[in-house]
Amino acid sequence: MKVIINPGHSTTSPGVMGPTGLYEHDAVFALSQVLKAALEERKIEAEILVQPGGNEKWALSHLMQRVNARQHEVDVFLSLHCAFSKDRAAYGTRIHYLEGAEESRLLAENLFKHFPKTPWAGIFPSQEFVLQQARCPAVLIEVEHLSNPEAEMLMRHEAWLQKTAERLVAGLFDFIGPQDIRLIIDGKEIFAEPVPQVVYGDIMVPVRVIADALGARVEWDGDARILRIFTRRALRPAEPSEEGKETEG
Ligand SMILES: [Zn+2]
Repeated sequence: MKVIINPGHSTTSPGVMGPTGLYEHDAVFALSQVLKAALEERKIEAEILVQPGGNEKWALSHLMQRVNARQHEVDVFLSLHCAFSKDRAAYGTRIHYLEGAEESRLLAENLFKHFPKTPWAGIFPSQEFVLQQARCPAVLIEVEHLSNPEAEMLMRHEAWLQKTAERLVAGLFDFIGPQDIRLIIDGKEIFAEPVPQVVYGDIMVPVRVIADALGARVEWDGDARILRIFTRRALRPAEPSEEGKETEG
């Protein structure tokens, strides 16, 4: 399991600004760091990717190329932003997913379960560029309304960052399934590294761990990208009695 966290905007183009001067990029960058630590504490790999400075469209394409270059290792892409409303009273979390992308909608639902329901909060189908480009389940989360003075004040505080990161982690775990999986083979507990995990409903265990426990041999041909597994049956020379049975039967 790997999560890419993208704090929206950049230091040179920091997004919207709150009533007392907090920039969107600074707020979501701080949250990204707390979220990364919270995920890693639970043995989930996380990486923070920031778009480069310069032309917005070029910068976002560049960002998504980097995300998609890791497509085999990445399970979830989270782009963190702030909402901004003319209505200064507006508060709450808005989660956007690509319209028609079922996995991403499920991710949005699982995340939103953990956030307060306010009149402005919710999950929304979207055509955002980064969501269109992502090749894994992806959401753009407006974590709070930076236009709201109270929300802006909250976002400066460590407690809010921790709480919001916890909500996101809880939603991610709901999406990917419980990860505290123990592997027991023939009554003996086996410790695997990386640890077994549920990915889209399937339990993933490193093949070498299973093969070792079952006495099979694993060969990985990296050039041809072929994984060969020889079971005990294949490793043992053919037994005459087995041959005999076949001709009789
Ligand atoms: Zn933004």
